[in-house]
Amino acid sequence: MMAQYLEIKAQYPDALLFYRMGDFYEMFFDDAVAASEALDIALTKRGKHDGDDIPMCGVPVHAAEGYLLTLIRKGFRVAVGEQLESPEEAKKRGYKAVVKRDVVRLVTPGTLTEESLLEARRHNFLAALGRVRDDWALSWCDISTGAFHVMPLAQARIGAELARLAPSELLVSEGVEDELREVLGDLGFEPTVLGAASFDSTAAEGRLATLFGVKSLAGFGSFERAELSAMGALVDYLDITQKGRLPLLQPPRQEAVSRLMQIDAATRRNLELTHSMQGGRAGSLLSVIDRTVTAGGARLLERRVSSPSRELDVIRERLDAVRWGVEGTWSDTLREALRRVPDLDRALSRLGLDRGGPRDLAAVRNALAEADTVSGRLEGVDLPELLGRSRDCLTGHDALLDLLEAALIAEPPLMVRDGGFIAPGYDEALDSARELRDEGRGIIAKMQGEYSQETGIGSLKIKHNNVLGYFIEVTATHADKMHTLGDRFIHRQTTANQVRFTTVELSELETRILNAGAEALEIEKRLYDTLKAAILDVAPALSELALALAEFDLALGLAELARSRDWCLPTVDNSRAFHVERGRHPVVEAALQKAGEPFIANDCDLNASADRASVTLLTGPNMAGKSTYLRQNALIALLAQMGSYVPAERAHIGLVSQIFSRVGASDDLARGRSTFMVEMVETAAILNQADERALVILDEIGRGTATYDGLSIAWATLEHLHEVNRVRGLFATHYHEMTVLAGKLEGVKNATVAVKEWEGDVIFLHEVKDGAADRSYGVQVAQLAGLPKPVIARARAVLEALEKGERDRTSPKALIDDLPLFSAAAREEPKPEQKGPSAVEQRLSGINPDDLSPREALQALYELKGLV
Ligand code: ADP
Repeated sequence: MMAQYLEIKAQYPDALLFYRMGDFYEMFFDDAVAASEALDIALTKRGKHDGDDIPMCGVPVHAAEGYLLTLIRKGFRVAVGEQLESPEEAKKRGYKAVVKRDVVRLVTPGTLTEESLLEARRHNFLAALGRVRDDWALSWCDISTGAFHVMPLAQARIGAELARLAPSELLVSEGVEDELREVLGDLGFEPTVLGAASFDSTAAEGRLATLFGVKSLAGFGSFERAELSAMGALVDYLDITQKGRLPLLQPPRQEAVSRLMQIDAATRRNLELTHSMQGGRAGSLLSVIDRTVTAGGARLLERRVSSPSRELDVIRERLDAVRWGVEGTWSDTLREALRRVPDLDRALSRLGLDRGGPRDLAAVRNALAEADTVSGRLEGVDLPELLGRSRDCLTGHDALLDLLEAALIAEPPLMVRDGGFIAPGYDEALDSARELRDEGRGIIAKMQGEYSQETGIGSLKIKHNNVLGYFIEVTATHADKMHTLGDRFIHRQTTANQVRFTTVELSELETRILNAGAEALEIEKRLYDTLKAAILDVAPALSELALALAEFDLALGLAELARSRDWCLPTVDNSRAFHVERGRHPVVEAALQKAGEPFIANDCDLNASADRASVTLLTGPNMAGKSTYLRQNALIALLAQMGSYVPAERAHIGLVSQIFSRVGASDDLARGRSTFMVEMVETAAILNQADERALVILDEIGRGTATYDGLSIAWATLEHLHEVNRVRGLFATHYHEMTVLAGKLEGVKNATVAVKEWEGDVIFLHEVKDGAADRSYGVQVAQLAGLPKPVIARARAVLEALEKGERDRTSPKALIDDLPLFSAAAREEPKPEQKGPSAVEQRLSGINPDDLSPREALQALYELKGLV
């Protein structure tokens, strides 16, 4: 057995081998050590190999999914080795023959299909990067839904596209791994490296043609060699991991970078589109806008948020659909039906991979039934184009629905082997086998009564267990009596308290029951296969139906969001306008709402003309709301182009091709680069890539270095964006010196976030208005943050001296010499800003409570109150 184990294991050196032994998957050697630690299960030993103990651990087959999930999450790949014959069959081959085993599936993060291993509301993409000479392409698929895509792309875009898709697993060839090490490392990818043969573009054509059962791929589009290479590698990998059972992939859809709004990895992180900075879904844009009620709808929303469009037709069509939801009265009844829609995509994929069960058949049935309800409610209704097309996909499966409704019980069991999922009355042969089986059980009950009477033992029972089958059981006290009844009752077993017998009659009946049960199960299995085939025959149409339901769910979900949050329908056109009235930040607003605080809405005007940029330079103290304002405008553009209403009273967005968002020098120690270096690399990317349709948002660029360096870089960056890139942009800075640019560059204007000063404190109004901030209020903010009083006082003194020095044009050196020493200043408590004690204080200091009667005290209190 060990020889067999080692032989199989040698083929899967990178995976843990789950080696099936009866009811367990066992692991040996290093696999056992690693798995026992990862799963926190006992490590034991079994036998010896080359004189040493063999470490071993195991997991029960019935609980294997849970363990698999943990292992996959921890980055392992698992090869599942099954027994391909029963021990009896092996024995027939020879006394010492080992049961045949082989790996039936390689479980990896990108190839999961089990409901328990997947997140219902998220995609699970497997991606491959192909390269042929200097051309690159990315292909990705989700085998749990059948989606399959490919896209040629420039090498510089690889990071951004991978960030958009966030695949669970990425396939690359050896050479590519070296070349992209840095890009992949930045994104946190540990790619799966395949040999060059997997990426061979000629072999790819053959693989794809076989997969789709076509002679030529021309019908799907014309593909570049790099695209073929990437798709071929995907298919090859699926072949390896699924052991030849290929999933139901849809024909490849060619995507083009130019059709989507381009958003690079840093911008995605920064805008917290699908994940917050902390990494979770909570606090992301996606989490606050998701009102979908189906898993398919949620996945579609995730896709839209990650890839807003830049095609006007597409955007308008999607907006029309949401508008229909906002204006119509259909929402509630339709969403009620949608709520009951099961995850059709994933049921189909499991059926396609032969990993499904009766519940997946029922999922198809229920989805078809709800699709019927939805389309019935919409009969004769005037629908916008996108939804009209979707409605057409909902119907046409009456025969299949009838078949499934007639064949299946309401709530079938998970496994085929459990049986009992085919409805009574559907198949005659099945009904009669079941009748025999159930009748047998009735006869057994009758037999028990007869035996009990015959023997006079009232407590006699007929029972069943797996070892003995059916048997007659009496308590030990009655044993002698049974023995006196002659040969009829054949002794089988004596336990501590019971004695067990059988009879010839009972054995015969048992055989009949068993046969009937087995026959019933056989018939059910056959019927399962026929039903499965009927479904798979129309799988492509069912995938379209699933997408159609998702479109309805998404449109109605976004409509619900727009209504409940009071969002508006944006105007999107080909202009270079960017005009938002009373815009809000959806995530910050939601957070403030929970705390019962209002969000202050702000306008934004970045109307660029054909040949002129439009950049707003935003100054104002920290904490005033600059970042929030910057991001809210980027999010409004993004929401509009994904086809959603936006958090504003009015919005007019001229198509945005790219969004760039950068924050100056945030800590990036984890990646071991100087923060300033990161900031500059990212700024360089913008200056090199932004086109005139880009929307650029820069938050405190230059902050990561010395003042004059930072100011100069920020200055030159703004000039470049204005003169060369000619973008629409928002530029927040604390360098007040830059505000003079507004007078120099035609397309630059100043804005500031208003604050009020009150008794030495700042109050944040969060209102954005024209003009430059008068000062930065840094010391006041520091005071709010709780810096010790002597430090604040000292900072005020230094600031005053510096400002005076600037006015008098004194050199910094002279200034510093003139400042009193810190120790001298620090010991003094800062003087209160008021001139002397107030009237209330004066009156209070004249009162001695011990001398006052209660009446006098009350009188004094009135007086004091009068002074306030
Ligand atoms: P800055 O970038 O100027 O330092 P932020 O944008 O980080 O400031 O905002 C600081 C805090 O102020 C936010 O966490 C938020 O709670 C609050 N805030 C920002 N903008 C608004 C607004 N428009 N209305 C209400 N509160 C806001």
